[in-house]
Amino acid sequence: MSDNIMEEIFIKRSQQKKKTSPLNYKERWFVLTSEKIAYYDFDPDKGKRKGLRGSVDLEKIKCVETVQPEPNAPQERMHAFQIVYDEGPLYVFAKTEDVRAQWIKKLKELVRFNKDLMQKYHPCFWADGVWLCCQQEVKQAMGCKVLDNKNGFTSKASRRRGSRKPLPPTPTEEMPGRPLPPQPPEPTGPTVGMTVIAEYDYPPVTPQDLELRKDEEYTILEMSDSNWWRARDKYGKEGYIPSNYVVEAGNGLERYDWYCKNMNRSQAEKLLKTENKDGGFLIRDSSKAGKYTVSLLTKGGGEAVGSCRHYNICTTSQGQFYLAEKHNFGSIPELINYHQHNAAGMVSRLKYIVSNRARPPSTAGLGYGVWEIDPHHLTFIKDLGMGQFGVVKYGKWQGQHDVAIKMIKEGSMSEDDFIEEAKIMMKLRHENLVQLYGVCTTQRPIYIVTEFLSNGCLLTYLREGLKQHPTVVQLLEMCKDVSEGMAYLESKQYIHRDLAARNCLVDGNGTVKVTDFGLSRYVLDDEYTSSAGSKFPVRWSPPEVLLYCKFSSKSDIWAYGVLMWEVYTLGRLPYDRLSNTEIVDQVSRGLRLYRPQLANEKVYNIMCRCWLDKADERPTFQELALIVQDLLYELQ
Ligand code: ADP
Ligand code: MG
Repeated sequence: MSDNIMEEIFIKRSQQKKKTSPLNYKERWFVLTSEKIAYYDFDPDKGKRKGLRGSVDLEKIKCVETVQPEPNAPQERMHAFQIVYDEGPLYVFAKTEDVRAQWIKKLKELVRFNKDLMQKYHPCFWADGVWLCCQQEVKQAMGCKVLDNKNGFTSKASRRRGSRKPLPPTPTEEMPGRPLPPQPPEPTGPTVGMTVIAEYDYPPVTPQDLELRKDEEYTILEMSDSNWWRARDKYGKEGYIPSNYVVEAGNGLERYDWYCKNMNRSQAEKLLKTENKDGGFLIRDSSKAGKYTVSLLTKGGGEAVGSCRHYNICTTSQGQFYLAEKHNFGSIPELINYHQHNAAGMVSRLKYIVSNRARPPSTAGLGYGVWEIDPHHLTFIKDLGMGQFGVVKYGKWQGQHDVAIKMIKEGSMSEDDFIEEAKIMMKLRHENLVQLYGVCTTQRPIYIVTEFLSNGCLLTYLREGLKQHPTVVQLLEMCKDVSEGMAYLESKQYIHRDLAARNCLVDGNGTVKVTDFGLSRYVLDDEYTSSAGSKFPVRWSPPEVLLYCKFSSKSDIWAYGVLMWEVYTLGRLPYDRLSNTEIVDQVSRGLRLYRPQLANEKVYNIMCRCWLDKADERPTFQELALIVQDLLYELQ
C-alpha cells in the first residue's frame, strides 16, 4: 500500500481495558500510515499479515515516548515505547534501540500539531493498578515527568502547538515581543551506531579517552554511561568521549560556528545580549520543524543593550533559500555568506558570529572514570573565599583548565563518607549544576575540585555584582536556571538540603548554577548540622525540618521559594528582624516572607506555593520549572 509510512513487527502489551483482562504480550504487525497506527495478527511461518486487531487514529495521540524497562525485563522487552491516547497508553516493544528511536521520531513528527498534547507523562509502566514511576493508583493520573526537552522548552509548547496556524509561506520576521513559538518536536538524540559531529575539541585525559577534533565525525559505539560514550573516529581509533561535546550529524550545518542547534528564541536573545555586539547573529532551529531562523542583534539607536530581531529562512518551491526575495541561494551557508556582506532588507548585515561554542562545557569528571585527581596537576592562582570547610581557591588543572579547589580543613568534614559520595556526585551533570570534577584524597588536607564560575557567589552578585539595575526578566531567568538544576536533582531523587543564594554561583554569561548539593551531610560542626545550631539554615527551612528534621525534595522547594525571595530583594536576609528562635516559632505558626517590591503578584504567588504548610501540596521542581518558564514567555 502506497500510503504506508513504516511497518514493523513489535511485541504489544495487552491494554487491560477491563481490570480483569489478563496481561499478555503478543507479536503484532504494526503499520503506520498518515492517518493511523494499526496492528495486525500475522503468521510468523509465512511472514504474512492477517486480520486487523486494532488501531489508533493519529489525531487522538497525546504523547509518544519511551518507557523504562520493568525490573528484570526479558531481553525482547527492553526497548519499550508508549503511544498515549484517550484510552490510555498502548505499550509496544521494539527489537532494537534504533527501531524504537525511528518510530518515536516519526510518530512525534506526525502528531506534533495535535490538540491536547501532554506536558507530562509517566516514564514507567502502568502495572497491576499502579504507575511504577510515581506509585499513583489512578490510571488517568497526570504524568509525573515533564516531557524531556533539551531546549528547556516546556508546557506551552504543546498547548500552543495545537492552536497554532501554520506559518505563512512568505518571508517573515518573527514578531518581536510575541510569546515564544512552539519548538519542533524534540529530536530523540543520538543512538548507538549513529554518526555525530564534535562541537568542541576534547584533548584525551586518560588512555581510555578518545581525542575529539571540532567538526570531525565519530561513530557512537556504546552509551551505557550517559556522560561518557564509547566512540570510534575516522581512523578506527576507539575510546570514551564526553557526550555533551558532540551532536547528531543532521543537516550539515553543525560544522558552522553560527549554527546553534537546539537553541530557542530566549536562549538566542540571552546569548546575543551577553555579547551585545551590533550585527551579532546566529542561526537556530526555527519553531517550525526543519526550518531555520536567523537571530540578529542591532544597536541602531545607540542604546546600551541592543535589540534582537528574528528572521525565518524561507524556501522557494524549487528548494532555494532566501531571507529577502530576489536573493535566493542553493544552500544556507551560501545565503549566510551573502548576508554577511549585504543587509538586503534586514535591519543590518550579519556582521559578527555569536557562537555558543566559544567555550567547551564541563565534562562529568576530568576524563572517563577519573575521580581521583593528581594534586601535582593543580596550580593555585588566588583565593576565592572562605567556606564552611576552609579556603576555596581558583586554579588551573594541567595548566589550562579553570577549576575551583576547596581545601578541606582537617576535622571539618567526615571525609570517608564524602569520598564515597563523591563518586555519585560526579555523575550528576546539568548545565545549572556546578560540576564536581574530582577529589584529591591521597594527601591532607583533601581537595574537592569543581568547575570554576567567574562571577562567584549569587548572593554577592545580587548585592553588588549586577552592573545595571536588573530587569524583571533577568531576575526570573536566574530563578529559572536554579529551578532547572534542581529539577534535575529531583529527578535523580537527590536532596540538596542547603539550597540558598549563597550556594549558587554565577558564570561569565550570567547563568546561575547550584552548588554544594548534599554536602551538608558531611559537615562536622554541630552549629551547622543541628537545627538549633547558629549556622543551621533556619531561614531557608520549612516547618517540618525545623520541627522534625524531615528533609525531602519538598523541603528543597521551600528553600527555593526563599531563594526566589533573595533574588527579588537583591540579596536581603530573609526575616532580617527575627532571630532564629523567633523564626522557628513564627514560621511554624504561619508567618511568611513579604512580597518584594520587584516581584509582581504572579512571581510572589510562586514563592507562596513553595511555602505551603503541607509539604505534599508544594509543587515539584519540574512543575516549578514549567511555571517559571511560562511566566518568562509572558514577560517577553
Ligand atoms: P562552603 O560551601 O564550603 O562553605 P563556598 O562554596 O561558600 O564554601 O565557597 C566560599 C566562597 O568561594 C564562595 O562564596 C565563592 O565566592 C567562592 N567559590 C566557591 N566555589 C566557587 C567556584 N566554583 N567558582 C567560583 N567561586 C567559588
Ligand atoms: Mg557553600
